[in-house]
Amino acid sequence: MLKLALPNKGRLSEDVRSALFDAGLGVRASSDRALVAALGDEFSAIFVRAEDIPEFVADGAADAGITGWDCVEESGRELESLVDLEFGRCRLVVAVPGPKDAAPSLDGLGARPRVATSFPRLAERFFRAQQREVVLVPVSGAAEVAPHLGIADAIVDLVSSGSTLRVNGLVEVATVVESSARLVARPRATLAKEPEKQDAIDELALALSSVVRARGQRYLMANAPREAIEAVREVLPGISGPTVIDVRGAESDLVAVHAVVAQKQVYRTVSRLKALGCQGILVTRIERLVP
Ligand code: AMP
Repeated sequence: MLKLALPNKGRLSEDVRSALFDAGLGVRASSDRALVAALGDEFSAIFVRAEDIPEFVADGAADAGITGWDCVEESGRELESLVDLEFGRCRLVVAVPGPKDAAPSLDGLGARPRVATSFPRLAERFFRAQQREVVLVPVSGAAEVAPHLGIADAIVDLVSSGSTLRVNGLVEVATVVESSARLVARPRATLAKEPEKQDAIDELALALSSVVRARGQRYLMANAPREAIEAVREVLPGISGPTVIDVRGAESDLVAVHAVVAQKQVYRTVSRLKALGCQGILVTRIERLVP
Protein backbone atom coordinates (compact mmCIF):
# COMPACT_ATOMS: atom_id res chain seq x y z
CA MET A 1 0.00 0.00 0.00
CA LEU A 2 1.38 3.38 -1.04
CA LYS A 3 2.18 5.88 1.68
CA LEU A 4 1.44 9.58 1.17
CA ALA A 5 2.90 12.35 3.34
CA LEU A 6 0.35 15.12 3.89
CA PRO A 7 0.40 18.43 5.79
CA ASN A 8 -0.87 18.05 9.34
CA LYS A 9 -2.31 21.51 9.95
CA GLY A 10 -3.49 24.81 8.59
CA ARG A 11 -5.25 25.87 5.45
CA LEU A 12 -2.97 23.74 3.26
CA SER A 13 -4.01 20.63 5.16
CA GLU A 14 -7.73 21.38 4.67
CA ASP A 15 -7.34 22.11 0.95
CA VAL A 16 -5.30 18.92 0.44
CA ARG A 17 -7.94 16.79 2.19
CA SER A 18 -10.68 18.35 0.12
CA ALA A 19 -8.80 17.74 -3.18
CA LEU A 20 -8.16 14.11 -2.19
CA PHE A 21 -11.81 13.69 -1.22
CA ASP A 22 -12.88 15.00 -4.65
CA ALA A 23 -10.44 12.52 -6.20
CA GLY A 24 -12.33 9.74 -4.40
CA LEU A 25 -9.77 9.32 -1.62
CA GLY A 26 -11.47 10.21 1.65
CA VAL A 27 -9.32 10.32 4.80
CA ARG A 28 -10.42 7.73 7.37
CA ALA A 29 -8.69 8.70 10.61
CA SER A 30 -9.39 7.52 14.14
CA SER A 31 -9.35 11.15 15.31
CA ASP A 32 -8.68 14.67 13.96
CA ARG A 33 -5.19 14.53 15.43
CA ALA A 34 -4.25 11.04 14.22
CA LEU A 35 -0.77 10.85 12.70
CA VAL A 36 -1.70 8.08 10.27
CA ALA A 37 -4.92 7.31 8.41
CA ALA A 38 -6.31 5.23 5.59
CA LEU A 39 -6.77 7.17 2.36
CA GLY A 40 -9.41 5.52 0.19
CA ASP A 41 -8.62 1.82 -0.26
CA GLU A 42 -5.36 2.40 -2.07
CA PHE A 43 -3.22 4.59 0.16
CA SER A 44 -2.24 5.28 3.70
CA ALA A 45 -1.46 8.81 4.84
CA ILE A 46 1.02 10.16 7.36
CA PHE A 47 0.39 13.68 8.64
CA VAL A 48 3.54 15.71 9.20
CA ARG A 49 4.70 19.33 9.01
CA ALA A 50 4.57 20.72 5.46
CA GLU A 51 8.30 21.61 5.76
CA ASP A 52 9.21 18.01 6.58
CA ILE A 53 7.34 16.39 3.69
CA PRO A 54 10.18 16.73 1.12
CA GLU A 55 12.55 14.87 3.47
CA PHE A 56 10.02 12.10 4.14
CA VAL A 57 9.46 11.56 0.42
CA ALA A 58 13.11 11.91 -0.61
CA ASP A 59 14.19 9.42 2.09
CA GLY A 60 11.50 6.91 1.06
CA ALA A 61 9.56 7.11 4.35
CA ALA A 62 6.65 8.10 2.08
CA ASP A 63 6.15 7.25 -1.60
CA ALA A 64 4.70 10.64 -2.51
CA GLY A 65 3.60 13.78 -0.75
CA ILE A 66 1.62 16.97 -1.14
CA THR A 67 3.20 20.18 0.06
CA GLY A 68 4.12 23.74 -0.95
CA TRP A 69 6.76 24.01 -3.67
CA ASP A 70 8.60 26.54 -1.47
CA CYS A 71 9.17 23.74 1.09
CA VAL A 72 10.51 21.42 -1.64
CA GLU A 73 12.89 24.08 -2.97
CA GLU A 74 14.07 25.00 0.51
CA SER A 75 14.74 21.34 1.35
CA GLY A 76 17.22 21.11 -1.53
CA ARG A 77 16.04 17.52 -2.10
CA GLU A 78 15.54 16.31 -5.65
CA LEU A 79 11.82 15.68 -6.09
CA GLU A 80 9.57 15.76 -9.11
CA SER A 81 6.47 17.95 -9.17
CA LEU A 82 3.73 15.75 -10.69
CA VAL A 83 0.63 17.91 -10.27
CA ASP A 84 0.21 21.61 -9.51
CA LEU A 85 -2.89 21.70 -7.32
CA GLU A 86 -3.19 25.46 -7.84
CA PHE A 87 -3.96 26.34 -4.22
CA GLY A 88 -1.61 27.58 -1.50
CA ARG A 89 -0.31 30.07 -4.04
CA CYS A 90 2.34 32.41 -2.68
CA ARG A 91 5.68 33.99 -3.56
CA LEU A 92 8.90 33.95 -1.62
CA VAL A 93 10.10 37.54 -1.91
CA VAL A 94 12.80 39.90 -0.76
CA ALA A 95 11.24 42.88 1.03
CA VAL A 96 12.77 46.01 2.51
CA PRO A 97 11.42 48.78 4.74
CA GLY A 98 10.22 51.91 3.04
CA PRO A 99 7.23 53.66 1.52
CA LYS A 100 6.21 52.23 -1.84
CA ASP A 101 6.65 55.59 -3.64
CA ALA A 102 10.29 55.81 -2.50
CA ALA A 103 11.04 52.92 -4.95
CA PRO A 104 13.28 50.99 -2.57
CA SER A 105 15.60 48.46 -4.19
CA LEU A 106 18.20 45.84 -3.36
CA ASP A 107 20.85 48.36 -4.36
CA GLY A 108 19.71 50.72 -1.64
CA LEU A 109 20.59 48.17 1.05
CA GLY A 110 24.28 49.02 1.25
CA ALA A 111 27.12 46.55 1.79
CA ARG A 112 26.45 43.19 3.49
CA PRO A 113 22.83 43.84 4.53
CA ARG A 114 21.31 41.64 7.23
CA VAL A 115 18.47 39.48 5.86
CA ALA A 116 16.00 37.77 8.21
CA THR A 117 14.44 34.59 6.85
CA SER A 118 13.15 31.14 7.65
CA PHE A 119 14.25 30.10 4.13
CA PRO A 120 18.06 30.27 4.52
CA ARG A 121 18.86 27.89 1.66
CA LEU A 122 16.73 29.73 -0.92
CA ALA A 123 17.81 33.15 0.34
CA GLU A 124 21.47 32.14 0.15
CA ARG A 125 21.04 30.73 -3.36
CA PHE A 126 19.22 33.87 -4.51
CA PHE A 127 21.79 36.35 -3.22
CA ARG A 128 24.69 34.20 -4.45
CA ALA A 129 23.20 34.22 -7.97
CA GLN A 130 22.96 38.01 -7.66
CA GLN A 131 26.59 38.10 -6.47
CA ARG A 132 25.47 40.04 -3.44
CA GLU A 133 27.03 39.45 -0.07
CA VAL A 134 24.47 39.33 2.76
CA VAL A 135 24.41 38.25 6.39
CA LEU A 136 21.55 35.83 6.95
CA VAL A 137 19.60 36.16 10.20
CA PRO A 138 17.76 32.84 10.66
CA VAL A 139 14.27 33.14 12.20
CA SER A 140 11.64 30.44 12.53
CA GLY A 141 8.73 32.73 11.60
CA ALA A 142 7.44 36.33 11.66
CA ALA A 143 10.46 37.60 9.70
CA GLU A 144 8.48 40.78 9.00
CA VAL A 145 9.12 42.13 12.50
CA ALA A 146 12.92 41.75 12.25
CA PRO A 147 13.54 45.15 10.57
CA HIS A 148 11.44 46.87 13.29
CA LEU A 149 13.52 45.18 15.96
CA GLY A 150 16.66 46.47 14.29
CA ILE A 151 18.03 42.97 13.73
CA ALA A 152 17.68 42.96 9.92
CA ASP A 153 17.75 45.37 6.97
CA ALA A 154 15.60 43.17 4.73
CA ILE A 155 13.59 39.96 4.85
CA VAL A 156 12.98 36.97 2.60
CA ASP A 157 9.48 35.69 3.35
CA LEU A 158 6.31 34.27 1.83
CA VAL A 159 3.71 36.68 0.54
CA SER A 160 0.21 35.85 -0.47
CA SER A 161 -2.08 38.91 -0.47
CA GLY A 162 0.75 41.29 0.51
CA SER A 163 -1.14 42.69 3.50
CA THR A 164 1.41 41.46 6.10
CA LEU A 165 4.17 43.33 4.25
CA ARG A 166 2.04 46.49 3.95
CA VAL A 167 1.08 46.47 7.62
CA ASN A 168 4.76 46.22 8.52
CA GLY A 169 5.86 49.00 6.16
CA LEU A 170 7.81 46.63 3.90
CA VAL A 171 8.01 46.72 0.12
CA GLU A 172 8.65 43.76 -2.16
CA VAL A 173 11.78 44.25 -4.27
CA ALA A 174 12.43 40.81 -5.82
CA THR A 175 10.81 37.38 -6.23
CA VAL A 176 12.85 34.36 -5.14
CA VAL A 177 10.37 31.51 -5.85
CA GLU A 178 6.75 31.20 -6.96
CA SER A 179 4.96 28.49 -5.03
CA SER A 180 1.74 26.47 -4.87
CA ALA A 181 0.75 23.08 -3.49
CA ARG A 182 2.19 20.18 -5.51
CA LEU A 183 2.01 16.40 -5.61
CA VAL A 184 5.67 15.39 -5.41
CA ALA A 185 7.54 12.09 -5.66
CA ARG A 186 11.09 10.89 -6.12
CA PRO A 187 12.35 11.23 -9.70
CA ARG A 188 10.89 8.60 -12.04
CA ALA A 189 14.27 6.94 -12.65
CA THR A 190 14.64 6.05 -8.96
CA LEU A 191 11.37 4.03 -9.12
CA ALA A 192 12.39 2.01 -12.21
CA LYS A 193 12.59 -1.20 -10.16
CA GLU A 194 9.16 -0.66 -8.61
CA PRO A 195 6.77 -0.33 -11.57
CA GLU A 196 3.64 -1.02 -9.45
CA LYS A 197 4.53 1.87 -7.22
CA GLN A 198 5.13 4.14 -10.20
CA ASP A 199 1.78 3.06 -11.71
CA ALA A 200 -0.04 3.85 -8.46
CA ILE A 201 1.64 7.29 -8.26
CA ASP A 202 0.73 7.99 -11.90
CA GLU A 203 -2.90 7.03 -11.19
CA LEU A 204 -2.96 9.38 -8.21
CA ALA A 205 -1.50 12.17 -10.38
CA LEU A 206 -4.19 11.56 -12.99
CA ALA A 207 -6.95 11.63 -10.37
CA LEU A 208 -5.68 14.88 -8.80
CA SER A 209 -5.22 16.49 -12.24
CA SER A 210 -8.85 15.68 -13.00
CA VAL A 211 -9.88 17.45 -9.78
CA VAL A 212 -7.82 20.54 -10.70
CA ARG A 213 -9.30 20.53 -14.21
CA ALA A 214 -12.87 20.33 -12.86
CA ARG A 215 -12.44 23.38 -10.64
CA GLY A 216 -14.05 26.45 -12.16
CA GLN A 217 -16.16 24.25 -14.45
CA ARG A 218 -19.87 23.45 -14.16
CA TYR A 219 -22.09 20.86 -15.81
CA LEU A 220 -25.12 22.39 -17.42
CA MET A 221 -28.24 20.51 -18.51
CA ALA A 222 -31.26 21.98 -20.25
CA ASN A 223 -34.22 21.03 -22.39
CA ALA A 224 -33.99 22.92 -25.67
CA PRO A 225 -36.53 23.38 -28.47
CA ARG A 226 -35.43 21.10 -31.31
CA GLU A 227 -35.59 23.95 -33.85
CA ALA A 228 -33.19 26.06 -31.72
CA ILE A 229 -30.51 23.40 -31.46
CA GLU A 230 -28.03 25.07 -33.81
CA ALA A 231 -28.23 28.35 -31.87
CA VAL A 232 -27.90 26.38 -28.60
CA ARG A 233 -24.76 24.68 -29.93
CA GLU A 234 -23.20 28.10 -30.44
CA VAL A 235 -23.98 29.10 -26.86
CA LEU A 236 -22.66 25.78 -25.48
CA PRO A 237 -19.35 24.97 -27.13
CA GLY A 238 -18.55 22.47 -24.30
CA ILE A 239 -15.42 20.34 -24.35
CA SER A 240 -16.35 18.56 -27.56
CA GLY A 241 -19.68 20.27 -28.20
CA PRO A 242 -22.83 19.66 -26.15
CA THR A 243 -24.32 16.17 -25.82
CA VAL A 244 -27.77 16.24 -27.39
CA ILE A 245 -30.30 13.61 -26.31
CA ASP A 246 -33.84 13.03 -27.53
CA VAL A 247 -36.51 13.57 -24.88
CA ARG A 248 -39.20 10.92 -25.28
CA GLY A 249 -42.82 11.55 -24.46
CA ALA A 250 -45.31 14.30 -24.97
CA GLU A 251 -42.87 17.13 -25.38
CA SER A 252 -40.92 15.54 -28.20
CA ASP A 253 -40.22 18.93 -29.72
CA LEU A 254 -37.60 19.19 -26.96
CA VAL A 255 -34.10 17.74 -26.84
CA ALA A 256 -31.91 17.53 -23.73
CA VAL A 257 -28.51 19.20 -23.99
CA HIS A 258 -25.64 18.61 -21.58
CA ALA A 259 -22.37 20.54 -21.62
CA VAL A 260 -19.40 21.60 -19.50
CA VAL A 261 -19.34 25.38 -19.05
CA ALA A 262 -16.74 27.60 -17.38
CA GLN A 263 -18.18 28.78 -14.09
CA LYS A 264 -17.59 32.41 -14.95
CA GLN A 265 -19.68 31.99 -18.10
CA VAL A 266 -22.62 30.27 -16.41
CA TYR A 267 -24.54 33.48 -15.67
CA ARG A 268 -24.44 34.71 -19.29
CA THR A 269 -24.96 31.22 -20.75
CA VAL A 270 -28.14 30.61 -18.73
CA SER A 271 -29.58 33.96 -19.85
CA ARG A 272 -28.82 33.17 -23.49
CA LEU A 273 -30.33 29.67 -23.22
CA LYS A 274 -33.50 31.12 -21.65
CA ALA A 275 -33.73 33.58 -24.54
CA LEU A 276 -33.56 30.62 -26.96
CA GLY A 277 -36.53 28.99 -25.21
CA CYS A 278 -34.65 26.42 -23.11
CA GLN A 279 -36.38 25.05 -20.01
CA GLY A 280 -35.45 23.02 -16.93
CA ILE A 281 -31.92 24.43 -16.85
CA LEU A 282 -29.78 22.70 -14.24
CA VAL A 283 -26.22 23.65 -13.27
CA THR A 284 -24.16 21.32 -11.08
CA ARG A 285 -20.62 21.17 -9.77
CA ILE A 286 -18.13 18.72 -11.26
CA GLU A 287 -15.82 16.83 -8.93
CA ARG A 288 -13.53 15.36 -11.57
CA LEU A 289 -12.99 15.90 -15.25
CA VAL A 290 -11.02 13.22 -17.07
CA PRO A 291 -10.66 14.16 -20.74
P1 AMP B 1 -0.22 37.83 3.26
O1 AMP B 1 -0.42 38.87 4.34
O2 AMP B 1 -1.51 37.34 2.67
O3 AMP B 1 0.75 38.30 2.18
O4 AMP B 1 0.41 36.54 3.94
C1 AMP B 1 1.69 36.61 4.44
C2 AMP B 1 1.84 35.76 5.66
O5 AMP B 1 1.24 34.50 5.50
C3 AMP B 1 3.31 35.51 5.93
O6 AMP B 1 3.49 35.47 7.32
C4 AMP B 1 3.57 34.16 5.30
O7 AMP B 1 4.58 33.48 6.00
C5 AMP B 1 2.22 33.46 5.39
N1 AMP B 1 1.87 32.75 4.15
C6 AMP B 1 1.25 33.27 3.07
N2 AMP B 1 1.04 32.33 2.13
C7 AMP B 1 1.54 31.19 2.62
C8 AMP B 1 1.61 29.85 2.13
N3 AMP B 1 1.12 29.50 0.93
N4 AMP B 1 2.19 28.93 2.92
C9 AMP B 1 2.66 29.26 4.15
N5 AMP B 1 2.62 30.49 4.66
C10 AMP B 1 2.06 31.45 3.92
